[in-house]
Amino acid sequence: MTTAASTTLDSINPATLEVVGTVPVTPVEDIPSIVANARNAQKAWAEFDLEARVELLRPVAKRLEEEAGRIGSLITAEMGKSTKEAQGESAYGAQKFASELESAYEAFIPEEVCDENTKSLVYRDPFGVSVAITPWNFPMLMPQQCILPSLVAGNTVIFKPSEETPLVGQAYADILNEVLPEGVLQVIHGADDQGKALVSSDINLVTFTGSREVGAKILTACGPDLKRVILELGGKDALIVLDDADIEAAATFAVHNSFRNAGQVCVSTERIYVNDAIADEFEALVISKTEELKQGNPSKDDVAIGPMVSSMQRDIVLQQLDQAIEDGAEVRCGGTTNENFITPTVLTGCSHDMRIMHDETFGPVCCIQRVSNDEQAVELANDTPYGLGGAVFGEVDHAVSIARQLTTGMVGINKACGGAEGTPWVGACQSGYGYHSGRDGHRQFTQVRTVNIPIHQVKPKY
Ligand code: NAD
Repeated sequence: MTTAASTTLDSINPATLEVVGTVPVTPVEDIPSIVANARNAQKAWAEFDLEARVELLRPVAKRLEEEAGRIGSLITAEMGKSTKEAQGESAYGAQKFASELESAYEAFIPEEVCDENTKSLVYRDPFGVSVAITPWNFPMLMPQQCILPSLVAGNTVIFKPSEETPLVGQAYADILNEVLPEGVLQVIHGADDQGKALVSSDINLVTFTGSREVGAKILTACGPDLKRVILELGGKDALIVLDDADIEAAATFAVHNSFRNAGQVCVSTERIYVNDAIADEFEALVISKTEELKQGNPSKDDVAIGPMVSSMQRDIVLQQLDQAIEDGAEVRCGGTTNENFITPTVLTGCSHDMRIMHDETFGPVCCIQRVSNDEQAVELANDTPYGLGGAVFGEVDHAVSIARQLTTGMVGINKACGGAEGTPWVGACQSGYGYHSGRDGHRQFTQVRTVNIPIHQVKPKY
C-alpha cells in the first residue's frame, strides 16, 4: 500500500497478508532529475550502434535463466500466482528475452528501397527517453515487452512497476542493470502520482500495459505535446462454442482460460456463448472440471488457484458477482470467499443485460450464456468497447468464418488467442493503441527516418 505521503511501499502477500518486502517510494519532485539523467544517458546509448547494444544485452538471457527460480517465487509471494504459473512466467521470460532480442535487432536493421529515380535508406531511430508503466498480473513479462525493444532501439527507459509488484520489477531491472550503462534503465516506485508525473514530464514515448481507464488518461495527458504512446489495455474476451465443437476440448479450455491466475489475465475467457444444442453437456463438463481445481496458498506446488491480488480487486469481482446473481444468474459451483480468496465460480443463465457480461471482471468467474445461432453469438461477442482476444471452438472452417466476423485483435481457433512466434500481441478497438512484439510491434518503439539519394549519384558505400 502507498498513499501520496508515503515514503515507503510495502509489498503484501495476498495469500498470507504478510509483508514480502519494502521499497522506497520515489518522491514526485525527484522525477524531473531522473528524466534529465535518462536524457543524458540516451545520447551515449544511441551512439552505441545497434549491434553493440544487442551484444551488450545478450548475456542477460542467461542471467534471467539463472534467476528464474527466485523471480518465480517472488511473483507467487507478491501477487498470488500459482507456483507452476509463476515459475512458468519467469522461465518463459528468460527464453523470450533471447528470442525477442534477436527479432528486435532484425526489425531495426536499416533498409534500402530503390526505384528507377531514387535510392532510399530507411532508418529506425530511437525516440529518446521512454517510460514503461506496467501492471501486476504478469510482473516480469509485461515489463519485459515494454523495456526490451525500447532499449534495443536506443531509447533509455524509466520503468515504473505496479505498486502491487515492486519487488519483481526491481529484481528484473537489477539483472539488466548488471550490464547496462548508468542511467539507461532507471526504476521509480509508487502508484498513480508517480505514473502521472512521469507521463507529464519531458519524455518522448510512453509504453503502458494496464487498464483501459488509465490508458485513456495517459493518452489525454500525452495529447498536448503529441508524445508517442503504445497502450496495451484490458479486455472482455468471449469464447464462442459452436454446435459442431469438440465439447470436451471446449470445456477444458473454458475452465483453464477462465481460472488461470485466478482469472487475472487480460485474455481470460470472461464470457462464453454456447449454442443451445450442446449447452447442457458443455455446462455440466465445465462445472465438473471446475470442481476439481485445487485452491489455496499458491506457494504449495499442487495448488492451481491462488487469491485475488488485493482486497480491492476481490471487492470489484464480488460486486459484479452479487449484481449478476441479483439479476438472475445461477451459481452452479463456487461463489464463496475467504479473505482474498474467491472460489472458482461458474455462473449459468447469464444474459446480455448483466454488468458482468460487459465490464472487465478480472477474477475467477466463468459466465455462460446460451445462444440459438451463430449470428447471435457474433453480435453479442462484438457488442463491447473492448477488442483484445477471443476464441472460437468448432469445426475449423466454420470457426474461422466466425473468427473473421469478430472485432478483436486476436482470435484462437480451438485454442487460446496467442499467435505464432513473430506475430504481434495486438488489441483492437479500446483494448489497444499500438501494439507489441513481432517485427511491426518492435518498430513502434522507433522513429522512422528516410534519406533519399538520386539514383545516378549513389556511391558504393550507400
Ligand atoms: P492499472 O491500469 O490500474 O495500473 C497499471 C499501471 O498504471 C500501474 O503501474 C499503476 O500504478 C499505473 N497508473 C495508475 N494510474 C496512472 C495514471 N493516471 N498515470 C500513469 N500511470 C498510472 O492496471 P492494473 O490493475 O495494474 O492491471 C490490470 C489491467 O491490465 C487489466 O485491465 C488488464 O486487462 C490489463 N492488462 C492488459 C494486458 C494486455 O496485453 N493488453 C496485459 C496485462 C494486463
